[in-house]
Amino acid sequence: MAFVTRFAPSPTGPLHLGHAYSALLGHDMARAAGGSFLLRMEDTDLERCRPEYEAQILDDLSWLGLTWDGPVHRQSEHIACYNARLEPLIARSLLYPCSCTRSDIRAALSAPQEGVQHNVYPGICRGRSMASRLPGDALRLDLGAALAQLSPEALVFQETGAAHEGRHLVEADTALSDIGDVVLSRKGEDIVAYFLASAFDDADQGITDVVRGVDLFTFTPIQVILQHLLALPAPRYHHHGLIRDDQGKRLAKRDDARAIAKYRAEGASPADIRRMVGL
Ligand code: GLU
Repeated sequence: MAFVTRFAPSPTGPLHLGHAYSALLGHDMARAAGGSFLLRMEDTDLERCRPEYEAQILDDLSWLGLTWDGPVHRQSEHIACYNARLEPLIARSLLYPCSCTRSDIRAALSAPQEGVQHNVYPGICRGRSMASRLPGDALRLDLGAALAQLSPEALVFQETGAAHEGRHLVEADTALSDIGDVVLSRKGEDIVAYFLASAFDDADQGITDVVRGVDLFTFTPIQVILQHLLALPAPRYHHHGLIRDDQGKRLAKRDDARAIAKYRAEGASPADIRRMVGL
């Protein structure tokens, strides 16, 4: 069976041990299966992503001994295209413009951080027509209307990671209470939601198996819903455990102490890094 996976960092900081684990695991799984390992820069957050971080990530991955198939895919080069692909959802009256505050919307769009709760949008702008869209308005998915157009038993995904192994059904009631009317894009600023761009790219890059941290498990239901709405193929998922610091907290990009660059400067070898992450 074909196996195509990807490592999809957001270049908003240096590569740290947690990312290295994710990349090494995906790479090893692909190579063991005789499949492909692709590299994607999820750099849609133009304010936080920096070319120097991308350069450092690429250099660290090469140093770790990883090779990827094909060119690096950069999401920032495709933002207009992601937005254009929302047109069928507009035609089906599944999106509406929303002018609720900028900080709410930005929080909803950014990649997740552990411990940060994403509030479910209370639906203030639901029912507004696309004709009423103002410059700067976000586009939200009318989740209730979207779910009503999908067959409930189709919303399933297969998980092979230990923490959630098995077949999962995305329940409409849970989706409405936990996900709600998410922001998919914001006009004028060329922003698309991380989980939307990622769902398009997984389809376009022919990803059969998504290997990523278990902190992203909660984003899988909305991605499954979007795959069905946009007629995209559904990959399998493998959410792996996280590398934690000594206090048990997930490593974040700001934890420069765990940056691969720092271990390299201290003389660690790629084999040392593999040992540190338990591979
Ligand atoms: N870009 C996301 C991150 O850096 C990963 C997204 C994914 O693997 O689906 O956390």
